[in-house]
Amino acid sequence: MSTATTQNTLPTGDKPLDSLFIGGEWVVPQGTGQITVISPNTGDPIGAVPDGTAGDIDAAVRAARAAFDDPRIWSGLPAAQRAAHLRRFADEIDARKDDFATLVSAQNGMPIGVAAQLEAVYPATLLRYYADLVEAQGPDVRDGMFGGKVDVRREPIGVVGAIVPWNFPQTLAAFKFAPALAAGCTLVIKPSPETVLDSHLLAEAAEAAGLPAGVINIVPGGREVGAYLVSHPDIDKVAFTGSTAAGTSIAETCGRLLRPVTLELGGKSATIVLDDAELDLATIGNELFVATLANNGQTCFLGTRVLAPRSRYDEVVDVLTAFASSMQIGDSLDATTQIGPMASERHRERVEGYISKGRAEGGRITTGGGRPSGVDAGWFVQPTVFAGLDNSATIAREEIFGPVLTVIGYEDDADAVAIANDSEFGLGGTVWSSNEDRARAVAAAVRTGTIGINRYIPDPVAPFGGVKHSGMGRELGPEGLAAYQNLKSVYC
Ligand code: NAD
Repeated sequence: MSTATTQNTLPTGDKPLDSLFIGGEWVVPQGTGQITVISPNTGDPIGAVPDGTAGDIDAAVRAARAAFDDPRIWSGLPAAQRAAHLRRFADEIDARKDDFATLVSAQNGMPIGVAAQLEAVYPATLLRYYADLVEAQGPDVRDGMFGGKVDVRREPIGVVGAIVPWNFPQTLAAFKFAPALAAGCTLVIKPSPETVLDSHLLAEAAEAAGLPAGVINIVPGGREVGAYLVSHPDIDKVAFTGSTAAGTSIAETCGRLLRPVTLELGGKSATIVLDDAELDLATIGNELFVATLANNGQTCFLGTRVLAPRSRYDEVVDVLTAFASSMQIGDSLDATTQIGPMASERHRERVEGYISKGRAEGGRITTGGGRPSGVDAGWFVQPTVFAGLDNSATIAREEIFGPVLTVIGYEDDADAVAIANDSEFGLGGTVWSSNEDRARAVAAAVRTGTIGINRYIPDPVAPFGGVKHSGMGRELGPEGLAAYQNLKSVYC
């Protein structure tokens, strides 16, 4: 366990923390409530911002609506002009990238090394990717089968309500704002209460980039404020990433309102180790980390059900045990940390509750299972490996969202696929094999939105999302842009 290095002064930017970014200005919030961010490393308060209210959402939606409805401001600009704005926005985010990494890490416990590679990089990458993509979308005029032509236009869908979780707050916000802005939409973003300081910095970057007033508005708040945004009469589309429970409620609202919605929800993905897989940690360790434990297990796509062939079951358990026990646990802002704390005290209780359930249901803990020794502050949980359970165990069925892996035995490839598919989720997964054709055949049979072979990383060019209770719709790739565009056929 490394020693605490949490900074006392966080790089929250130059703008007053007691204001909200609405309509291109830093405005006084309508309520008096505050969101206080607690360091997961120490349990101490590290900052506070206004707790948004329904009135703030009304103001933000009004600003976004006005910016959208006048086509001269944003929605009707030539794609090249919007693309230029997106690239300036990317530059301003880049200029603050170390601060973004520090803020995210300090708030949610993401190891700073992970934050520097993802949170600090992904948003600007996506803005540039979607700037290029929208610029390349030329006119689509087709020869009609009944004579004449059809002009198939891609029009921005309108005002977007974007609701973001705390685990990858910048990246998952950018999954929404980058394609939405490229398409010509305007947004109201509601960050999660756990990660509000980085969203303040995002607003500062948007302002510095000279985005027209009202194109991006940010209102931090809890679930009531989120629910209010989802059902707001002037919202045209909802984009949500978060838990399946919240997603279900949002889907109900959007169903009633016939409002388009993209839902990126929970997961319980399978890491399928085939009997010919390379298991040398010196070779696969980094990729295994991203696929199973990244961000302290607080990542939606992680393959926390490790499916091992009976013939190599003990070996897989030993490798995972060595892997998990080798992790450097510590303060998330320490550059050597691989596993930081859980994002909140309540979340650690939840993770520990699952570890107790795994024990009670007969699981054998081969490493971890508790809190690291000698630590009296912060919400740390040791990386934990369970053996001896099958796929019916609670910890094999429910999303834990912590560093807890369960190794489950299987007979043959067909059995592995059947177990992988025996889940209410379908978001990620990996297949580990030295034979790519065989791995591809297994990957093709798994019911999931994404899957990797001997590695896993969501790539900007490819659609990302889930099936079953893991969600509806896709983000990233050209499909992620299409999700913010209405098609209009003009017969001419
Ligand atoms: P959460 O659902 O509690 O909250 C997510 C966001 O939604 C927060 O901003 C929250 O304030 C808001 N919210 C909650 N209930 C709401 C409601 N009824 N209406 C409107 N807004 C509401 O999730 P969390 O604990 O912040 O994040 C963890 C969850 O997110 C995990 O289940 C994880 O798997 C999921 N997740 C999914 C993906 C993906 O791409 N599929 C990515 C990251 C995280």
